[in-house]
Amino acid sequence: AEFDTLDIVVLGVILLGTLAYFTKGTLWGITKDPYANAFANVNGAKAGRSRNIIEKMDETGKNCVIFYGSQTGTAEDYASRLAKEGKSRFGLETMVADLEEYDFDNLDAMPSDKIVMFILATYGEGEPTDNAVEFYEFITGDDVSFSEGTDPGLQNLNYVAFGLGNNTYEHYNSMVRNVDKALQKLGAHRIGKAGEGDDGAGTMEEDFLAWKDPMWAALAEKMGLEEREAVYEPTFGIVDRENLTVDSPEVNLGEPNKMHLEGTAKGPFNSHNPYIAPIAESRELFSAKDRNCIHMDVDISGSNLSYQTGDHIAIWPTNSGDEVDRFLDIIGLKEKRNNVISVKALEPTAKVPFPTPTTYDAIVRYHLEICAPVSRQFVATLAAFAPNDEVKAEMARLGSDKDYFHSKTGPHFYNIARLLDTVGKGEKWTNIPFSAFIEGLNKLQPRYYSISSSSVVQPKKISITAVIESQMIPARKDPFRGVATNYLFALKQKQNGDPNPSPFGKTYALNGPRNKFDGIHVPVHVRHSNFKLPSDPGKPVIMVGPGTGVAPFRGFIQERAKQAQDGATVGRTLLFFGCRKRSEDFLYESEWEEYKKALGDSLEIVTAFSRESSKKVYVQHRLKERSKEVGELLSQKAYFYVCGDAAHMAREVNTVLAQIIAESRGVSEAKGEEIVKNMRAANQYQEDVW
Ligand code: FAD
Repeated sequence: AEFDTLDIVVLGVILLGTLAYFTKGTLWGITKDPYANAFANVNGAKAGRSRNIIEKMDETGKNCVIFYGSQTGTAEDYASRLAKEGKSRFGLETMVADLEEYDFDNLDAMPSDKIVMFILATYGEGEPTDNAVEFYEFITGDDVSFSEGTDPGLQNLNYVAFGLGNNTYEHYNSMVRNVDKALQKLGAHRIGKAGEGDDGAGTMEEDFLAWKDPMWAALAEKMGLEEREAVYEPTFGIVDRENLTVDSPEVNLGEPNKMHLEGTAKGPFNSHNPYIAPIAESRELFSAKDRNCIHMDVDISGSNLSYQTGDHIAIWPTNSGDEVDRFLDIIGLKEKRNNVISVKALEPTAKVPFPTPTTYDAIVRYHLEICAPVSRQFVATLAAFAPNDEVKAEMARLGSDKDYFHSKTGPHFYNIARLLDTVGKGEKWTNIPFSAFIEGLNKLQPRYYSISSSSVVQPKKISITAVIESQMIPARKDPFRGVATNYLFALKQKQNGDPNPSPFGKTYALNGPRNKFDGIHVPVHVRHSNFKLPSDPGKPVIMVGPGTGVAPFRGFIQERAKQAQDGATVGRTLLFFGCRKRSEDFLYESEWEEYKKALGDSLEIVTAFSRESSKKVYVQHRLKERSKEVGELLSQKAYFYVCGDAAHMAREVNTVLAQIIAESRGVSEAKGEEIVKNMRAANQYQEDVW
């Protein structure tokens, strides 16, 4: 009985689809997929879409918009969850909106009975995410002015704010802090506290949950909302397409978008449209038994992609076969994995996050982050669909009791399928509407890698240096293995001659949908960064990059070696590199000798091997030992770079540097810290940390 309403809605959508089909057919004589057309019509063509949020809300009957500024998808995910919760608990008519897709100069015309939420991630060195740049510049600008022209402008605006940040960075949560400040200054009214989530402490999810409950209470009071019993309503309808099979050309089998499906993929390649790049070369860099790190060269010569030394490359991964199987099996869809379905947004502002018609297999393999840690809120949502009452009670307890949840799930590194399997004691979870997974799981995210080559030396070949993510989990038999790095590892094995690689028992659809990635291809795009060499090669540079933190510095040194070969005078080039043992994981050891031939004594690699003696030596110790020279180079305006582990290393290097400056200039440590801060502001100190 539960799904009768859904059926009716889905039927409605089919009717709409049929209508669209006929109108399209008569107008243009195209007989493309009618269901896809219905979806496109509902959402509007991108080009013609209005950038007026107030108009959009009026048209669609919304009274609450949740804007997100998101880089890795978490902020977007939180925005969707708030939308869902606002609707189900308080009957708010919610919509989620990408900051990039709207203008804000009419924000002063937002009626006071509407609510605007901002979920804002801070990226890197206190920067807005790519999609929030324009909004941020507008709202924090000195000369911000609005359509109505009243001063200070936003008296009618009622808003809510949450930020996603990382306390290991200098400008912790600066996005939400600065936007909040700017909104207040413009006269807007914040409801509840401006929340801050901390990825550095690993508490993002709990910070979000802890923030949102008092926020809802404050919002309900201020706006006079009444809470009702929350009932799950799917955002997406699933329509079986019995007349289609995996061989039908219009079915998406994991192609990133329509152009890829139709074989007309072309640039610009970006975070919505990857380039399927050939892998030119790949090899192992470690000589350790139980750890792996790969070097990979990705060929971008067939595309109009370009990069600059210090940029990042994004790898679009594919989930491993065993995890796809585990997931489909536990929710009872293993047999139907290749059935063709259309996924429809059941309300006009929701977006289906992947192309459709498609199959369950393709969605799970290419589009959903099925291996990530499970959100406690999602567990609470799924309780209603448990296979029996006992399991339901356990899910409800896990969902509501923070400490219980963490003690039960933390040590196991559960992903959603493993959790359902354990809590359900092996019973299948066949009652969960598939929509819940599309809503509750993140979109499978590209992973970023610091490019380890120089664009001057190899403009059309991007190097990656990636350590394979693998962790022993005492609480379970098999180790935890990262999504993207193990996929890359399998690609490396295939390229080196293994026709069916299964590293650590894992297999991947390496050929991609319809064999489109065959011949060793990987989907990528490039993200530009501010991590850059000084334009004058004569300037000294000090680089600190232990482990894979050395990646961009290989690019830097490659570039300076080339400049030296071309006759430039290259300044002191000092790299602090650290790893466990020279014989195991000294990355690019032989290459440094090559670069030395061009750079001579200006290049020096200072090494710290942490497992070669009883005393652990790290890069920050070596830096300290070199105080004198470092102090002198800095007084010659050397650029200072740190790359790699954000949580410990980067912070300690920062502290040591402040001490060195204090000593060499005879000032207090506090003053030393201040000088480092100023260096950051002047781009003389740059970080590329994760
Ligand atoms: P994932 O599957 O994403 O797992 C990553 C981590 O998440 C795990 O170690 C674990 O701690 C946690 N996790 C995931 N699932 C679970 C679960 N179910 N339960 C509990 N915990 C879980 N890496 C490099 O090797 N080289 C580089 O040059 C490099 N440059 C980078 C530059 C930038 C700007 C950024 C942001 C990151 C960079 N990284 C680099 C890191 C890289 O992007 C990936 O994060 C890394 O390779 C791991 O990806 P993965 O998909 O294999 O692991």
